[in-house]
Amino acid sequence: MLIVSYIIYLVASILFIFGIKKLGSPKTARQGNFLSSLGMFLAVVITLFDHMIITYEWIIIGLIAGSLIGSVMALKVEMTGMPQMVGLLNGFGGGASALVALGEYYKVETPNFELNIIITIVLSVLIGAVTFTGSLIAFGKLQGIVTGKVVKYPLQNPINVILFLAVLAAGVMIAIDPAQSQLLLGVVAVSLLLGILLVLPIGGADMPVAISLLNSYSGIAASMTGFVINNNMLIIAGALVGASGIILTIIMCKGMNRSLMNVVLGGWESAGSAGPAAADGVQKSHKSIDSEELAMLFDSASNVIIVPGYGMAVAQAQHAIRDLANLLESKGINVRFAIHPVAGRMPGHMNVLLAEAQVSYDKLYALEDINDDFPNTDIVLVIGANDVVNPAARHDKSSPIFGMPILNVDYAKTVIVNKRSMNVGYAGIDNELFYLDNTLMYFGDSKDAVTKLVNEIKQL
Ligand code: NDP
Repeated sequence: MLIVSYIIYLVASILFIFGIKKLGSPKTARQGNFLSSLGMFLAVVITLFDHMIITYEWIIIGLIAGSLIGSVMALKVEMTGMPQMVGLLNGFGGGASALVALGEYYKVETPNFELNIIITIVLSVLIGAVTFTGSLIAFGKLQGIVTGKVVKYPLQNPINVILFLAVLAAGVMIAIDPAQSQLLLGVVAVSLLLGILLVLPIGGADMPVAISLLNSYSGIAASMTGFVINNNMLIIAGALVGASGIILTIIMCKGMNRSLMNVVLGGWESAGSAGPAAADGVQKSHKSIDSEELAMLFDSASNVIIVPGYGMAVAQAQHAIRDLANLLESKGINVRFAIHPVAGRMPGHMNVLLAEAQVSYDKLYALEDINDDFPNTDIVLVIGANDVVNPAARHDKSSPIFGMPILNVDYAKTVIVNKRSMNVGYAGIDNELFYLDNTLMYFGDSKDAVTKLVNEIKQL
């Protein structure tokens, strides 16, 4: 049986790797998801045949309860609520890893482990517990239960460093004498506290990056637990999650031109504020346009680029935008979509929404593939995007987003910006694009505004 389980675990690992590879493109993502799920299914089924299982009652109760809760959550959660759902799942993953490691420790009366095993038990407990409470705080911030503000208090970083060193010292003492069970409980308590203290300072709007990092931690914790219970599948699956989580974190930081340290130490004070930008004493004016005038403008265009942002997700305007694109194309206008790597609030946010609305994937262009085309574009329609099209990132060294790659929409002949007001976006800063001569503001909730525009164009 053992050899069969090894082979199945190997097959499952291969399915995970191919699954992740296929998740790299929206065209193959569904297939990738299926392959990974199949891998997980095989791994779970073969584990249920493990000779160490004494009774199935609790396993069956857990399976039914977990499957029910998971299915309801998957069906109910809104697309905009995805980051916190992922956060919660990471937390449970980390917590489960810590519990398995603790279970392994307390299962014997006199703990007497080999050095490598006791080290992985301590690491599993440490990382798993940090991930658990950290993820719950991340969930709370995104859900509005915990303050989304950057929380700072005196001696914050020294306190965290001292707590971390204390856990490490306790870990070393346990490794020297594994029988010190009280100390292990101390590691659990301090790690749970560390998770809270590490995530609390991070601003609510930076939470997606924190969640991606916690995702990576949950993978590392699972991998460590794999060593504790000598399960190759868990080691491999955990390593894959750990590596992909950290890669995603780096991609997100690069897209925002921020260092991971800046995010983790509570970078943008103003991030996520909803009010208009602070007045800088200079009275700037913007021009606006209504749906009727805009429809006429589109009538004479031949090249259009649509730039979606977070507002499209909030308004769920993707279906209306698809209708607009189809209508313009039926009039012989060339329509493309420009996708910024950090538009929205999670990687791939725009791609997923547009794919859901059946917008053909070959109409979606990444920043580097379309940025040179803006000067030859008649109309750029910015839908609920703000920071990712702010020209200050190119030249204003004092701007918090200076250096962030942006879509050069201001180079187009005409820029139409649809949003509800002159309010700031995620970075909490004003956008000079709104005041340029070639920019026209088209105010309104994206879904309503685009639907109105479609109706006006149809009447022409
Ligand atoms: P922004 O957050 O910069 O701006 C979104 C704009 O959408 C707001 O200014 C808001 O203006 C408008 N809006 C909100 N609701 C609606 C609505 N119903 N209808 C129309 N407009 C609406 O979004 P971007 O996508 O441009 O930029 C993403 C930001 O998020 C970047 O700063 C990025 O660094 C950050 N980020 C991205 C992550 C990712 O992985 N994608 C992760 C973490 C952060 P108004 O209120 O006036 O309507």
